[in-house]
Amino acid sequence: LVSRKKKPEDTIIDIKGLKIGDGTPDFVFGPCSVESYEQVATVAEAVKAKGFKMLRGGAFKPRTSPYDFQGLGVEGLKILKRVADEYDLAVISEIVTPADIEIAVDYLDVIQIGARNMQNFELLKAAGAVNKPILLKRGLAATIEEFINAAEYIMSQGNGQIILCERGIRTYERATRNTLDISAVPILKKETHLPVMVDVTHSTGRRDLLLPAAKAALAIGADGVMAEVHPDPAVALSDNAQQMDLKQFDEFLEGLKNTPFVRV
Ligand code: PEP
Ligand code: MN
Repeated sequence: LVSRKKKPEDTIIDIKGLKIGDGTPDFVFGPCSVESYEQVATVAEAVKAKGFKMLRGGAFKPRTSPYDFQGLGVEGLKILKRVADEYDLAVISEIVTPADIEIAVDYLDVIQIGARNMQNFELLKAAGAVNKPILLKRGLAATIEEFINAAEYIMSQGNGQIILCERGIRTYERATRNTLDISAVPILKKETHLPVMVDVTHSTGRRDLLLPAAKAALAIGADGVMAEVHPDPAVALSDNAQQMDLKQFDEFLEGLKNTPFVRV
């Protein structure tokens, strides 16, 4: 169902009036984790002031260590919903268990399925059963074929509103947190009719690479870019090495000006 052979024209996902995949790039910014109302609202204000419409923030955090911050859970979703209403933004957050998909529908505009759950087939089926856009991230070591099949799981249940997100894969290279597979973008665009975004934060894991990675993503034809922004990354409860503070966010956007955007 996700194959371009089945449907030659691009799928455009409507998120609160924003059209993802319509030929102009869209952006998702926000903190790694929802930590407090004030923290999310501070970022929301900056995102809104720059004219963007989508805000991210993790409430259920799939952390490598069980001793790391696990997220605020439903309380985090409530904070996102409040901020979304106050700032008229669309909010995106990761859901990690099938049972929470139904709950999330009331709070979120987009449900994210994270890299660690790309092959959680029960979660994919639950995401396919709701009428809500899904941002599906590529698995930590998933092939493009496995990634496409994960999207197929969602669509096979009836939900065709899927955004694919390349977020880097595990390779032997340690200079970056993951290896951004930039060629996945045109391949996914060619093989499927779905919009493709690139998460520059989790792929590179390096603040100094966010801008060049975003430029590359847009130049190669991505429909959008995701990056993490936090009011004070040094004290962030997760991912403090790669989130941008508000000044770096400004510089990032300045650097992106005039970046060519190519349709493939
Ligand atoms: C995230 O976007 O918050 C996240 C955990 O990303 P990933 O699933 O790509 O690691
Ligand atoms: Mn993060």
